[in-house]
Amino acid sequence: MGANVLDMRDIISENGSILLPTFAGLSQFSAVDYPGHLCAVLYTQGCPCRCRYCHNPSLQQGQGPSVMSWPSVMEWLVTRKGLLDAVAFCGGEPTVHKSLLLAMRQVRALGFNVALHTSGLYPHNFANMLPFLDWVGFDVKSPFARYPDVTRVPGSGGKVRESLERMLSSKVSYEIRTTVHNTILNSADLVTMASELQMLGVSRWVLQRFNKAGCADLELVASHTPIDGDVVDRLRVYVPNILVR
Ligand code: SF4
Repeated sequence: MGANVLDMRDIISENGSILLPTFAGLSQFSAVDYPGHLCAVLYTQGCPCRCRYCHNPSLQQGQGPSVMSWPSVMEWLVTRKGLLDAVAFCGGEPTVHKSLLLAMRQVRALGFNVALHTSGLYPHNFANMLPFLDWVGFDVKSPFARYPDVTRVPGSGGKVRESLERMLSSKVSYEIRTTVHNTILNSADLVTMASELQMLGVSRWVLQRFNKAGCADLELVASHTPIDGDVVDRLRVYVPNILVR
């Protein structure tokens, strides 16, 4: 089964019922999760990564305390038509859920745009979702060779690179962003990343300051230092348009 084709075997359970996504949370209104759009944000449960700077660690485990069914979410979304532009899917890692594709298609059928925040760990699932996305916030976490140091998932760098290449060759709008903490990424890592992004044809890159809100790693919280402006100037040699936020 090639990319961009929904394989029904992916979303049908052993007893023949369709596996609908469930959600761990809903923000009813956001002006920051899809640039230029007013959106609702749906949070999926589960992520294979264990990034030290994660600010949603409660969403890492496969099962969480709070579950919203897709029909109840759709019922609410119908009442938001004309009030919101879009729905953004966030996590956790949304693309771990193959059936999320059904949710995205239904959201589009209601007339909303669809945004996705992803770390790109599941290139096949991500490729299937791409035709139904209007915007992607894509995390690039480290040089591809150093990915397991950050995510603690063996082989994750190659998968993320594949997802990134698929996104760049699609027509979707996107933002590539990196969370910068000097304990995790040193200046040589950032230069390597800038070079890798340049080779992939990336010309705009967002460097995000580490956000201690929600982070469970006290060492990171205590050791945070600002992003060095001289280093950013060196990165601009490779990627001209860099935004620090
Ligand atoms: S990929 Fe995102 S959600 Fe998953 S552990 Fe890392 S920061 Fe948290």
